[in-house]
Amino acid sequence: MTPSYSSHTLPRQQQAWHTYSPQKTLELLETTLQTGLNAETVSQRQQHYGPNEIEETAGRSNWEILLDQFTNIMLIMLIVVAIISGILDVVELQKNGITEGVIPFKDTIAIFLIVILNGLLGYLQETRAEKALAALKRLSSPKVQVIRDGKRLEVDAPQLVPGDIILVEAGDQLCADGQILEASNLQIRESALTGEAQSVNKYPLTEALEEDTPIGDRRNMVFTGTEVIQGRGRVVVTNTGMTTELGKIAEMLQSVESEPTPLQRRMSHLGNVLVSGSLIFVALVVVGGVIKGGWGLLQDLVEISLSMAVAVVPEGLPAVITVTLALGTQRMVKRHALIRKLPAVETLGSVNVICSDKTGTLTQNKMVVQEVETLEGNCRVTGTGYEPLGDFIKGDNQTVKINNYGELQALLFTGVLCNDAHLSQKEGDWAIMGDPTEGALLALSGKAGLQQSTLENQYERVAEFPFSSERKRMSTICEWSETGNHWPSWQLRQNHAYAMFTKGSPELILERCQSYQLGEQIYPLTEEQRKQVLDGNNAMAKRALRVLGFAYKPLEHIPDTDAETSEQGLIWLGLVGMMDAPRPEVRAAVAKCRAAGIRPIVITGDHQLTAQAIAQQLGIVEEGDHFLTGRELERMSQPELEQEVERVSVYARVSPEHKLRIVRALQKQGKFVAMTGDGVNDAPALKQADIGIAMGITGTDVSKEASDMVLLDDNFATIVAATEEGRVVYSNIRHFIKYILGSNVGEVITIAAAPIMGLSGIPLIPLQILWMNLVTDGLPALALAVEPADPHIMERPPFNPDESIFARGLGSYIVRIGIIFAIITITLMAWAFNDSQKPGHDPESWKTMVFTTLCIAQMGHAIAARSTTRLAIEMNPFSNIYLWGAVIVTTILQLMLVYVAPLRDFFNTTVLTREQLVICLLFSSLMFVWVEFEKILLRLYRKFVQK
Ligand code: ATP
Repeated sequence: MTPSYSSHTLPRQQQAWHTYSPQKTLELLETTLQTGLNAETVSQRQQHYGPNEIEETAGRSNWEILLDQFTNIMLIMLIVVAIISGILDVVELQKNGITEGVIPFKDTIAIFLIVILNGLLGYLQETRAEKALAALKRLSSPKVQVIRDGKRLEVDAPQLVPGDIILVEAGDQLCADGQILEASNLQIRESALTGEAQSVNKYPLTEALEEDTPIGDRRNMVFTGTEVIQGRGRVVVTNTGMTTELGKIAEMLQSVESEPTPLQRRMSHLGNVLVSGSLIFVALVVVGGVIKGGWGLLQDLVEISLSMAVAVVPEGLPAVITVTLALGTQRMVKRHALIRKLPAVETLGSVNVICSDKTGTLTQNKMVVQEVETLEGNCRVTGTGYEPLGDFIKGDNQTVKINNYGELQALLFTGVLCNDAHLSQKEGDWAIMGDPTEGALLALSGKAGLQQSTLENQYERVAEFPFSSERKRMSTICEWSETGNHWPSWQLRQNHAYAMFTKGSPELILERCQSYQLGEQIYPLTEEQRKQVLDGNNAMAKRALRVLGFAYKPLEHIPDTDAETSEQGLIWLGLVGMMDAPRPEVRAAVAKCRAAGIRPIVITGDHQLTAQAIAQQLGIVEEGDHFLTGRELERMSQPELEQEVERVSVYARVSPEHKLRIVRALQKQGKFVAMTGDGVNDAPALKQADIGIAMGITGTDVSKEASDMVLLDDNFATIVAATEEGRVVYSNIRHFIKYILGSNVGEVITIAAAPIMGLSGIPLIPLQILWMNLVTDGLPALALAVEPADPHIMERPPFNPDESIFARGLGSYIVRIGIIFAIITITLMAWAFNDSQKPGHDPESWKTMVFTTLCIAQMGHAIAARSTTRLAIEMNPFSNIYLWGAVIVTTILQLMLVYVAPLRDFFNTTVLTREQLVICLLFSSLMFVWVEFEKILLRLYRKFVQK
């Protein structure tokens, strides 16, 4: 297929679109403002230009990432061990020549293989994690409103083609370069491209710009990667993908170094502790050995040191951690939480305050108008959902005829004309596109028989002051219609060609009114009436309704002043109260939060009483809690706010910049804060929060970009679920670290004990240690990583995110268990050594007994380590069948090393007699018995302390 225009008419790279008038650009791109492209042209152009995507180039080359893995201190130590071990083998070969049955350089090769394997794993983990994150990010990739075939559609950004007409509004991140055709107050932040933090005004230009106009001065163009801070506009796409200005410099932008995650930091700390600890230990053993046995023992001592160095490194740990994190991220996605920054997986569990928006997060964001109140009186509105079907009812079930109430009719007109949403019927259901608050107003007017399309045609919108969370109101300026619907205050039409229609927070709108309408007449507003309006507002808010105020004013000409000056001298019309019911699952989630020591806080732009009523219904407010409004907050200094934050559970009528102050104050009080946000100006607060959470459905692109996590369903309960998963991940990591390291300490002490006890030879060679650390420790550790959540995990307070990996008894557990491990094995070693020296026994068999006991004892340890408090018999054996699988497979593999001849030769083991095997099993089981015994002791101790 050929595109509808040949590529020579559209030399995209060179086309200086900013030098053309909108008409010329539309002509060149063969598109129109009203109807956009048709489906056929779109698919032709998609084929011709490919997807609208910036190709990612990694900051570090793959080689660099791979080489970085070998800078890990534990791997460096292993490399040194491999080299020394190789040198010892060379010395041995020169002394004795090749001995039959001995494979030279076995240890060196094995250690190098492990080093390479670990390096590769680390490399895979880093690159995979990057790719997985990129894929997850794509899931939340921006959607774009586009006009095609004369209809407004929502498409994924990669599907855009040159010639598409897109609608942009505050909060959007632009996904293509384009020329502006229409703009209303359009302000764009282009810092991604120009480095300039100040936003710039953008508008269509009729006169041509010079070809060499710098990008920052091209006022008629918008560019990929920049953000719409305010206003709205229509843009024709001129460049997509790599031909956009951002695409051209993409490589420069992507070379940002990523920070190590808390876990990576903890692991490198762990590495330092282990390596320095083992070096000290080796030095002690070598010096002690030489003092006791003289220099003749040096070679033995060096070999023992090598074994100890290998024993101390937990070679299986990187693989287990990789798997745990990957599984954690997956589980979170299943629960609708999309992780955008990896540390969030680990740190979510530490959250102790969740600051949540109200609308859509705690509530369903399905608005239904329930009441309308003018100064004439209040009426109820019936009907459900967005279906424009229902009645207006006054007093005792008396249905109201709208035409008899001029002010009510004017209010409904205003609701439609000051509105950016669209109501449509999809498969029988009424649905809205746009803001649910505005959708509810369309449904309301529909109930009075007012058609959105008819009104919009008759009152053409010529200008607007858009809604923002700071302004909490919105105004449109429309032409009065000469024909069509009769405006309910006809005399005002005299000499007025235009009108401004305003809606928003009732207090703010009322402040800007001087008069009010009743029937078709306009009267001055008295203080008494103002009070009546505010009382009505409060009464509705107390019933948990979201209340909007409505006003308008006639205009002779389109205002050329700013919003603050123009939105004055308005005529008050009335209030609309809409119900946004709480999400049913949130109450339970709030209770879970409390049990888990997490404090939920509501931060909303809505009225204080509405917020309070909803928060009370959901159990967020506790006895003695304070409430704070944006205005009160403004009057407070930051230290005053820091004093107050501990007690406040609802912040109402706040602006995004207040959110930033609240997060900072909470953090100053030592809190680890998760904060939700959806608007463009929430980005700084989301970045400042320890976990910034954006809304997947209603969130702007800018807020998503700034967040650590995106809620795919906008639901508060999802935050709590993700926090729970975060705790599971961290607790499982601690679980297997203590399991693995306990065994490492046991191995090291046992090896060191042999020469001290005067036993000749080393009990474990590096190859056997690698086998233990990778296979007999690794497999059960993997199984421990998928251990289901402890049912009480959300019943304890969160842990400090900065705590060391050894905190809360983990370090002492490792040392204690390591010592017990060593005591068991050393006792066995003493017995086995004597036994193996008896006539008829293999004098080397004691080493195999030590090796076997260490491995099998770890199986018992794994079964007991599933829980720190519950005994193994108290746990459902089928809740982690992987563990049983790992224990059985590992035990069989270990026995194969002893009883299968080729494996025996390779791993330097000897056959064990039945009696020796039974002794090994008996000693091994002591490990299980000890860990269970510790749990019983702990219980008794707790009981004693409680008494
Ligand atoms: P939350 O912050 O919990 O999401 P919210 O939706 O009430 O609550 P904002 O969207 O910042 O917060 O709205 C603040 C106030 O602005 C609302 O309480 C309402 O009075 C007014 N408002 C909301 N939407 C509109 C709109 N589309 N047009 C005019 N005013 C609006």
